[in-house]
Amino acid sequence: MSILVVGSIGLDNIKTPFGKVENILGGSAIHFSYSASFFSPVNVVGVIGEDFPDEHFNPLRERGVDLRGVETKKGKTFRWSGSYDYDLNQAHTLETQLNVLEEFNPNLLNEYEESKFVFLANIDPELQLEVLKQIKDPYIVVGDTMNFWIEHKKDALMKTLKNLDILLMNDSEARELCGTHSLLEAAQKILRLGPSTVIIKKGEHGALMFTDSTHFAAPAYPLEEINDPTGAGDSFAGGFLGHLAQTKDFSEATIRRAVVFGSVMASYNVEDFGPKKLQKLTTQEIEKRYKEFEAITRF
Ligand code: AMP
Repeated sequence: MSILVVGSIGLDNIKTPFGKVENILGGSAIHFSYSASFFSPVNVVGVIGEDFPDEHFNPLRERGVDLRGVETKKGKTFRWSGSYDYDLNQAHTLETQLNVLEEFNPNLLNEYEESKFVFLANIDPELQLEVLKQIKDPYIVVGDTMNFWIEHKKDALMKTLKNLDILLMNDSEARELCGTHSLLEAAQKILRLGPSTVIIKKGEHGALMFTDSTHFAAPAYPLEEINDPTGAGDSFAGGFLGHLAQTKDFSEATIRRAVVFGSVMASYNVEDFGPKKLQKLTTQEIEKRYKEFEAITRF
């Protein structure tokens, strides 16, 4: 089944201890779409400016991603510049230029209103809500956010949270949102804000899933080569929701497997800069790493 994603589409400048890239294709909707497209059809809702190089979309088109919901507006494309030190879990935002994202007023194609699997990727929570309002009867709504929106749009973010089934967040953002160091306490607080499941991503330390009644911990894949963690969270979301849309099953066992698929996709994403690794990934590689995850967690 198709997944509808709304999120940022942009041009990133990224510096890590292992290299530097400029004007690379980025944005939460982009990283998510590459990843999810290995599991399910993906429909993207987003906005670009007139300066966006159209050829950037070719690899996504080749993966069958539907970009009819991407509007081109007068003005400049969203841009993000970030850097990482040796602690790759912590992104340092150097500059965020919202540009056309600031005026974006999403208006869904009629057929998208019937979407059943929805991912509200990291973007202004007001836009997340705007898109959600237009979807008639989704089976599952998953959302993501980041410190930028916790700090700039907390009230709108709280409204979005009320409407989510599953929230994905990284550990530092969960701590910031809930004002606590304890991830268990943060998860319990988040579960009272709306979502019935919360998944806290801990970068190279794996991911934790919490519901009212259960707790699951998946490790991260031990990688030899890491170059750029940008988009790891969105790639995780793509594998996670991709697996749910592919199986159309929301049992706890499937959700646990979805967490592992998310971890597989995030582990590939960080091997190269931006979405470069996922552009050339194969389903065989995904299956191979999933099996390795099974092997390293069996005892
Ligand atoms: P992740 O590393 O998965 O958290 O997401 C990385 C992507 O998020 C980058 O490609 C950025 O373009 C995008 N991004 C950074 N800041 C923002 C923001 N404030 N709103 C939406 N997207 C953002």
